[in-house]
Amino acid sequence: MASVTLNKVQKDYGSLNVLQAVDLEIADGEFVVLVGPSGCGKSTLLRMIAGLEEVSAGEIRIGERVVNDVAPKDRDIAMVFQSYALYPHMNVASNMGFSLTLRKAEKNAIDTRVNGAASRLGLDKLLARLPRQLSGGQRQRVAMGRAIVRDPKVFLFDEPLSNLDAKLRVHMRTEIKALHQQLKTTSVYVTHDQVEAMTMADRIVVMHDGVVQQVGAPLDLYDRPANAFVAGFIGSPG
Ligand code: ADP
Ligand code: MG
Repeated sequence: MASVTLNKVQKDYGSLNVLQAVDLEIADGEFVVLVGPSGCGKSTLLRMIAGLEEVSAGEIRIGERVVNDVAPKDRDIAMVFQSYALYPHMNVASNMGFSLTLRKAEKNAIDTRVNGAASRLGLDKLLARLPRQLSGGQRQRVAMGRAIVRDPKVFLFDEPLSNLDAKLRVHMRTEIKALHQQLKTTSVYVTHDQVEAMTMADRIVVMHDGVVQQVGAPLDLYDRPANAFVAGFIGSPG
């Protein structure tokens, strides 16, 4: 695991200022949830941590290392998206091992990693299937498996459960938390679902208008919201 530090991170798209001077310290092993209304910059923030989007100003550190100029593949992070983005023509095993194949890992090493991740996620018997032969929950597990095989220090989740039905969503929350604990990673998890945030987070980061409104443990935010926006957002049903 590794800490993630944002120091005055700003993002502009042309004349649109999406994030203004965001400061955030995420500790080793912490599970932090970013919440805020659609369009407030949650995905942008996550993508900057992943290196998929450049920062306009400021500094991002993963552990002690400043990563502003480090390529995504060298950041020790893995990202899980809402749309699973599985390769439709590849079976489960190949989907999970693909990033290792790209890194020219040896076949035996890839198989070991893939099998390990598959057994952790209950995918052992599904390794030969294609994505279209899987349920939504199984596809989500493959997406997580793909992230796990790289043994990342930091997990980034962008609304990973939005496409699942309510019952499965509740189940997967528990599963993601268990993985986070077993693998001892640091996790940054984006959702617009307040219940998800309240039940999963060590700390919640509330964002609005390009600014971090408040950071705190779920009950702190609930009991002592910093402003009317936080009170309204945390207090309203998802
Ligand atoms: P969220 O994930 O919180 O819904 P996003 O981070 O996706 O929000 O987007 C934040 C803002 O940045 C939105 O106004 C969005 O339209 C804008 N935005 C996101 N990506 C781009 C891009 N590549 N070019 C221009 N504007 C963008
Ligand atoms: Mg988003």
